[in-house]
Order: sequence, then structure tokens, then C-alpha cells
Amino acid sequence: MCRHAAWLGAARTLASLIHEPPYGLLVQSYAPRRQRHGLINADGYGMGWYDPARPEPVRYRRSVPMWTDANLPALAEIARSTCLLAAVRSATVGMPVEESATAPFADGAWLLSHNGRVDRDAVKDLADGAESTCDSAWLAAAVFQRGRAGAELGEALADVVVRAGEKDPAARLNLLACDGASIAATVWGDTLFHHRHHDGVLVASEPLDDSPGWRAVPDRALLTVSGEDVTIQPL
Ligand code: GLN
Repeated sequence: MCRHAAWLGAARTLASLIHEPPYGLLVQSYAPRRQRHGLINADGYGMGWYDPARPEPVRYRRSVPMWTDANLPALAEIARSTCLLAAVRSATVGMPVEESATAPFADGAWLLSHNGRVDRDAVKDLADGAESTCDSAWLAAAVFQRGRAGAELGEALADVVVRAGEKDPAARLNLLACDGASIAATVWGDTLFHHRHHDGVLVASEPLDDSPGWRAVPDRALLTVSGEDVTIQPL
């Protein structure tokens, strides 16, 4: 399983998800604490953030372990946004290790990451094509297709997860997505936590620190964050 994290609130740097917290994504890339499948997340990483200068988010993906990228710390310290998403990857057996298989996947304003695995034949019916043969890329394509047809972020995630889960009952489908103004995430087979701060909300596969505000989201649920509102609905 990979690990992912997102922020919505007052402008923060990507380092606030990656380097600054004691168990940020950098530490989670080599020593995750709650990971149920896989020991380390060394098959690449990616991040996305929004800047008023362009309508689409800025995205940076690499297929190398996060800790080997000497250029990342400075970039993460200056990349600031009110909406951030980042992920570290442990590739599922048989999946390619390449940038196009690495989250966040993107379409227009939407960014998406997947923790888990799914039988690709179960999702290929849900989308017309994907940028990589990776199972996560197919899930992302299915979500984006629904977004282009007018679905809201949470609606698109829920539809894809429920359909893929029906077709592959062994699938693990924790998706995390954002559009610059909201975050949506599914819990389907792995951990997810959220943490309300006075100036925003953090969502992460596992807590980034030991502060008391982290709340586990139950399995088979959809979490949505919009402004200061956090909603959890069963799937
Ligand atoms: N199945 C996806 C991949 O291969 C996600 C893997 C994961 O969550 N570890 O990238």
C-alpha cells in the first residue's frame, strides 16, 4: 500500500506534509507505522498543488524513492497552496514503476491518489483508457471520466469504488482526491485519518505526528472536506 496525504485550508507548504512532521511522507516512505501491505514505499512519489497563476494544479512526479531526490526539500519548502496532495508509492507486484504509474494522477483541476490494489479487468470497463497500465491509473481514469460528465468529486469517487468493489471483492480502494477547493477520500480496505486544525484539515493514510487530534475514518466510508466542513458517509 502506498501512503497519501492532503491539506485544505490556509496556505501551507508541501514540506508540511513531507519533511516537517515527525512522521511525514518522507519518514513514511521508509518507515510507515500503520501500513498493512508492504514495508516501504520506495517505488516513486508525487505531489500536486494549486497556484492562482494557472487553472490546473502544478504536479511533480518521480519514479525514484523520495529520500533520494536531493532537489525535493527546497521545492517542497517553497511550493505553497491552500490545497495540497502528496503520495509515496509501493508498487503492487506486476505494476510498472514509471512516472505515469505514480500518483497524483491529474485531469483538469482534479488530482487523485490510490492506496491499494484492484484487478485491472474489474476497472477496465469503467473507463475508456488510462495513461499507464497500472491499476491505479485505470481507477483515476474512471473517476476523471465521471468528473468530465458532471459528477462532483465525492460522487465520482464513490461511484467508482462501489462498482470496482462489486467486481473485485478483494480490492483495496482507498482513494484520495482534491480539486483545489475540496478534498474527497474513500476508505475501503486500508487506514485513513483526518485532523482538524484551526486553519484547515489534514487527511492522511496514517497520522503525520502524535498530536491528539487525529481521527480514524471507518472502513467503507466517503470523507469529504469543503471549507471547514468534514463529512463522513457510509459507502
Ligand atoms: N496498486 C497501486 C500501484 O501499484 C497502488 C499500490 C499501493 O497502494 N501500494 O501503484
